[in-house]
Amino acid sequence: MLKWRLILLIVFTAFTIKTNAQNYPQNYFRYPLDSLPSLVSPFGGLRDNHFHSGMDLRTNQREGLPVFASADGYVSRIKIQSIGYGKAIYLDHPNGYTTVYGHLQKYSGKIAEWIQNYQYKNQTFEFDYVFEKTILLVRKGDTIGLSGNSGGSSGPHVHFEIRNTKSEKIINPALFGIIPFDTLNPIIKNVFVYNFVPDGLLLKQELKINHQTIIPTNFPNQFIYKKVLELPAEMYGFGIEAYDYIHNPTDEKGIYEYSLKSQNKLAFSHTLNQFAFDESKYINAHIDYPFYKAAKTRVQKCFVDDGNEFSTYQTNVLKGKILVTKNMRDTLAFEVKDFNQNKFILLIPIVGLTSKMDKEKQDYLKSIKPKKAFYPLKKNTIKTKEFLFELDAKSVDDTVFYDFGLLKSIQEPALSKIYQVFNPTASLHKAADIAIKPFSGYLKYQSKLLLAYYFKDRKDFRSAGGNYDGGVVKGKASNFGHYFVTIDTIAPSIKQVFINTEEALSDSLHFYFEIKDNFSGIGKYEGYLNGEWILLDFDAKSNMLTYHFDKIWYNLVAQNKDSKLKNTAIIKPEVLIRVTDKKGNVAEKTFTIPIAFE
Ligand SMILES: [Zn+2]
Repeated sequence: MLKWRLILLIVFTAFTIKTNAQNYPQNYFRYPLDSLPSLVSPFGGLRDNHFHSGMDLRTNQREGLPVFASADGYVSRIKIQSIGYGKAIYLDHPNGYTTVYGHLQKYSGKIAEWIQNYQYKNQTFEFDYVFEKTILLVRKGDTIGLSGNSGGSSGPHVHFEIRNTKSEKIINPALFGIIPFDTLNPIIKNVFVYNFVPDGLLLKQELKINHQTIIPTNFPNQFIYKKVLELPAEMYGFGIEAYDYIHNPTDEKGIYEYSLKSQNKLAFSHTLNQFAFDESKYINAHIDYPFYKAAKTRVQKCFVDDGNEFSTYQTNVLKGKILVTKNMRDTLAFEVKDFNQNKFILLIPIVGLTSKMDKEKQDYLKSIKPKKAFYPLKKNTIKTKEFLFELDAKSVDDTVFYDFGLLKSIQEPALSKIYQVFNPTASLHKAADIAIKPFSGYLKYQSKLLLAYYFKDRKDFRSAGGNYDGGVVKGKASNFGHYFVTIDTIAPSIKQVFINTEEALSDSLHFYFEIKDNFSGIGKYEGYLNGEWILLDFDAKSNMLTYHFDKIWYNLVAQNKDSKLKNTAIIKPEVLIRVTDKKGNVAEKTFTIPIAFE
């Protein structure tokens, strides 16, 4: 009875997803650039610690292309960051969807005016403002800004998203008809065969998929593996390394959909139609993460780990795992698809052998020592007198075995014992709360204490932030690793950068400063032109602060023109830059800007 209910549930789910896909309005949203759809990166691409939440639209390595409102609506949010989406804009549309445009170089028209007013009023470049009411209306096709490379972008492009306004779920823009022309088939490059062992996965075989190992069948885009895969009776999991090609047959992109069938029934499928932001970190459960750490190749699993609740899957009752029994014959069917229905189907015949524990697995099981473990879907805590590491129920996607202990020798940067909560190949879905007691001699530096962790085989260490609170330094650990208390008393550095001397000395439109911090990171930056606050644009990836000449500068120019006429003294433009790191260390420098006033 239970089994039937499950099957009915699966069938029903499949049906609702199909229907939903047809329900997205077509031709409502226009492509936001003045070109045909061309993608640098599709929706849902596999990234470090997340799935790509939008489409990256190609701007041909250029900045400054007009970006158009995809449909009628109003500005619902402006977010400006020195990292992330950089200069971003959100539009709400009357049909219940929100479009998002990221990495802009600048905003246009009334939107730009509103933003500059806000920034001067609140004396901040970075902000996140949600509009309670409609102030800035846009019409479909209005220019809302120019394309750029701001924030954490690694080259000029527009990051474009469509979200459900209410649920904030991110939806594949292709479902609305924003689809590039694409006739290239995706491919499967490798198939991985896994056994399940107490501390995770044991990779049994890697099958190379190429013209030597497969032959075409009578069906289009369908291939069969030449050999019959002989598998001793046991539970198996499969994984695929697969890519799609959109505009160029050598440019590997992420696939839209893949599935595995066993005995002609669906065992597992994954479709990138939509997901919620807090699901994005399931990426590390979705792929063979230890293999990715070792080989930098992302193998997508065709089964679901216990704590992996990513909503994009449909599976059989075994969550995609395949139980092979003695003498069983089956043809596994792996199918990968892009949004244009270009596909690649791979059949692998298998036969079940007598169950036997092979030597490799015996050795492996002997080699694993009993360890401590964090379990998914429950709270896990390590607590000693001087140390706390606490994971909530969402922190691990599967059982994670770890080493816990103290590093024997304490090296220079550590002002506490060095605690290891270590698993070199596992990731945390959600950061852990961590607290470490510093050695008593350092309590007088309270406000400068923070947490750090080693990386690169303990050759270097990084800030994990945190603050002193009631005898310990408290913070967040987003990785497993070696943690300790350290100190930051060094202020950031500031220097003026002349991109082009002639430009800087003549009638320039901006000037630049480079600001850097040695450890805890830039916390705050301010600039004043002859005592008046000026808006500085900060780009964290290049460490550049930019002052684009605006009303404050032009007021000074006008005043000096006036002085000249009246023969009174010229006011020299002096810029004060003040940068504070996250531990309150302040650097201040004044620069006289060498610009002649004509
Ligand atoms: Zn993007």
